[in-house]
Amino acid sequence: MTENLLDFDAQAMQSLFAAMGEKGFRARQVLRWIHQRGEPDFERMSDLAKDLRAKLSLSARVEAPAVVGDSVAPDGTRKWLLKIDGANAIESVFIPEDGRGTLCVSSQAGCVLDCAFCSTGKQGFNRNLTTAEIIAQPWIANRLLGRDPNGERVITNVVMMGMGEPLLNLDAVIPALRLMLDDNAYGLSRRRVTVSTSGVVPGMDRLREECPVALAVSLHAPNDALRDRLVPLNRKYPLRELIKACNRYLDKAPRDFITFEYVMLDEVNDSDGDARGLAAIARRVRSKFNLIPFNPFPDAGFRRSGADRIRRFAEILRREGVTVTTRKTRGDGIDAACGQLAGDVTDRTRRSSQKVHRITELRA
Ligand code: SAH
Ligand code: SF4
Repeated sequence: MTENLLDFDAQAMQSLFAAMGEKGFRARQVLRWIHQRGEPDFERMSDLAKDLRAKLSLSARVEAPAVVGDSVAPDGTRKWLLKIDGANAIESVFIPEDGRGTLCVSSQAGCVLDCAFCSTGKQGFNRNLTTAEIIAQPWIANRLLGRDPNGERVITNVVMMGMGEPLLNLDAVIPALRLMLDDNAYGLSRRRVTVSTSGVVPGMDRLREECPVALAVSLHAPNDALRDRLVPLNRKYPLRELIKACNRYLDKAPRDFITFEYVMLDEVNDSDGDARGLAAIARRVRSKFNLIPFNPFPDAGFRRSGADRIRRFAEILRREGVTVTTRKTRGDGIDAACGQLAGDVTDRTRRSSQKVHRITELRA
C-alpha cells in the first residue's frame, strides 16, 4: 500500500523525503502543492523534477474521503458528509461570518463519552479518525469553497468542535493541528485554531506540551453533582481537577484564556444560582464564557432555555465581572449546529441500537 501524504506533517514529510534521498526543501514544496493549492496529482506538481514526480506516483498518494453529502442552510452555513470507510461517515461544517470563516472539524466517528445532551454521544463510537481524515476536512473545504475576491482562502479559523473528543485522539489530532499552523500548509495562527474538550485532563496536559492552541472546555454545570449527570467524564476528572488543568494550560500561554462552553438547558442548568456558581469558577481561571442555546435532536429529552432566561443568565455573569457571549444558532434546517452532528456511525458500543443507519446507501 502506498503512503497517503495527507497523513504527514512537516516533520514526517522531511523524514520521508530524506529516506528517498531528496532535499528538505522538496518536502516543503510538496506540502505547499498539497495543502495550499489543493493538488492531489503529483504529475501536476510542475516545479518538481520529472523523476521525483514519477517516484512519488509509485510510492505515495493524496487520498481524501469522498464527499457524499453537501448541504447549504439559508444563512450560508454549509455541511459536508464525508465517507471515511464502508461503514462510517463524518461531518464538517463551514460557518461564514462577517470578516471570517470558521470550519468545524470532527476528530472521531462517534464519541465514547456520552454526554446527556449530545447527539454524537447518543450515536455511540466506532473509531478514531486518522490525521489524513482530519486534515482532509479543511483540504476538501478549501477546494470546494474556492477563494474570496482577493484571492485569499476563506477558512480563517478552525474549531475542533465537530464529532468526537479530540483529546482522546491526540496521536492523530496533533499532526493535523501542526499542519493547520504550518506556513507551508494552512498558516493559521495558534489563536485561530481551537480545540474543544469535555475535560480530558491528561490530554489537556499533553496538548499544552506539544501544540498549545486555543482551548475551549465544555463546562455545562457549576458543580460536580450536576456535571456528573450531564458530562459523565466528570466522575473521572471532577471540577477541582479540571480547573487545575485549565490553570496549568494557561501557564504555558500567559496571554491566553480558556473559553468555557455552557449549553443552556431549560430548568436543568440555567438558574440564577447556577450563574453565580459559574462566576465563582470564573474567578479561579482566566476565562470567557460562551453560552450555547441547546440544539434539539430527536428524543433528546431536553429543551432549550428561553431567550429571556439566557439573557438574564448572561447578565448575572456580566455583573459578576465575567466576559460572556451567546453563540448564535447557525445551520438551521440542515442539522449543522453544535451537538447535532451525527454523520453515519456504525456503533461498536451498542449504545445506539435503536438507530437506523443509512450505511447501505453509503456503500453504493
Ligand atoms: N467533544 C468535545 C468537542 C465536540 S462538541 C466537547 O465536548 O467539547 C462541541 C460543543 O458542542 C461542546 O461544547 C458540546 O458540549 C456542545 N454540544 C453538544 N451537544 C449539544 C447540543 N445538543 N446543543 C448545543 N451544544 C451541544
Ligand atoms: Fe463527546 Fe463532546 Fe458530544 Fe460529549 S459533547 S458526547 S464529549 S462529542
